[in-house]
Amino acid sequence: MLQESIRRYAYSDTEGKVRKLINSLHVGILVFNSQEEVLFSNKFAHDMLGLSEKQLRMKGPYHPEWSVVYEDGSPFSCEMSPVLVALKTQKPVTNLIVGINRPLTGDRAWLLVNAEPILTDSGEVSEIVCSFSDITQRKAIEDKLTSLYQSLESRAFDLACSNADLERFVYVATHDLQEPLRLITSFLQLLKKKYDSQLDEQASEYINYAVDGSRRIKKLILDLLEYSKFSIDRDGFKLLDPGKVIEDVKHSLCSLLKQHHAIIDVKPLPVIYADPSLLHQLFKNLLTNSVKYRGESTPQISIDCITQGDDYLFSVSDNGIGIDPGYSEKIFDLFQRLHKNEAFEGTGVGLAICEKIIRLHRGSIWVESMPGKGSTFYFTIPQKQQW
Ligand code: ADP
Repeated sequence: MLQESIRRYAYSDTEGKVRKLINSLHVGILVFNSQEEVLFSNKFAHDMLGLSEKQLRMKGPYHPEWSVVYEDGSPFSCEMSPVLVALKTQKPVTNLIVGINRPLTGDRAWLLVNAEPILTDSGEVSEIVCSFSDITQRKAIEDKLTSLYQSLESRAFDLACSNADLERFVYVATHDLQEPLRLITSFLQLLKKKYDSQLDEQASEYINYAVDGSRRIKKLILDLLEYSKFSIDRDGFKLLDPGKVIEDVKHSLCSLLKQHHAIIDVKPLPVIYADPSLLHQLFKNLLTNSVKYRGESTPQISIDCITQGDDYLFSVSDNGIGIDPGYSEKIFDLFQRLHKNEAFEGTGVGLAICEKIIRLHRGSIWVESMPGKGSTFYFTIPQKQQW
């Protein structure tokens, strides 16, 4: 439609107004007759192609100096030119991208070309209106985006590979370590059993230490394996009620909670987008710790949540022994503990798992506490997960 109007206006433009208007366009216009001769061209076309109207009429629509190429860099075939195709097929050719060497500057320009055949009442092509715009900048941005995307893809692939390598390494290392450990433990026990009567008290004690040590290494290995198990599975994320998850956790910890008469007060919690099994593990670790590190009085735990900016801010408070603020960051590191095993059994993996789970949810976790004053563990979960 636009092409048809251009053609009509251009020819009946006695005062030159329409030509001015067409010359002000940032789109090149060339009108061809059915012999592929240029009948009309505008200023943008002259500037872009480096030819005057007269030269264009004489030289025709293609010029070897332009070194026209397709988008993939292959040389342009004149037989497949949009004008010729529109002429032969009587159908428009749309959005063809070609590159040309600008005659004036010699640099590469990219053009988005359309060719529209104008048909007579008897159905023959009388003219072809070819329009083109300069998309050099757009193409440069697109090319940059494509190469960025490709490098992102290859980095993501490298990361996935090294992640898989690491997971394999942890798995193999932990499995392979268990076997010699089993040997050490059983031979130590055998030694004790067989030569118990010949060993003095100190030798027996040393063997007991060694057995305890190897048992502890086994626990550390298993916990390390457990830690490495938690990974992101975006398909596992869904809208869920954390209150229900906490109910399940309470159920799975029921004997521990009953044994210590723990009181758990759960405030109304919002529905969140999270992975239910990861959230289960998180609350399980936090509640277990609140009971494990209880003070003199009955464990009282309160779970609450408020909105804070774009996040939900959860809190799990207890009335336990508390933590020296100097260690409030360290306790989230793998195998970091504040107590000897004789005082509280453990390996220092529970909070590292909590930290990993919250990291996988794109949130953060921290603790506010004072010795003897209980602890409050805070963690955030974004209200909207974006991937
Ligand atoms: P573990 O309990 O096996 O030592 P965690 O990673 O769960 O490992 O905890 C790390 C350390 O943080 C614990 O050794 C303990 O000193 C401290 N801690 C964790 N939770 C609490 C809590 N609710 N109250 C007091 N101390 C805590």
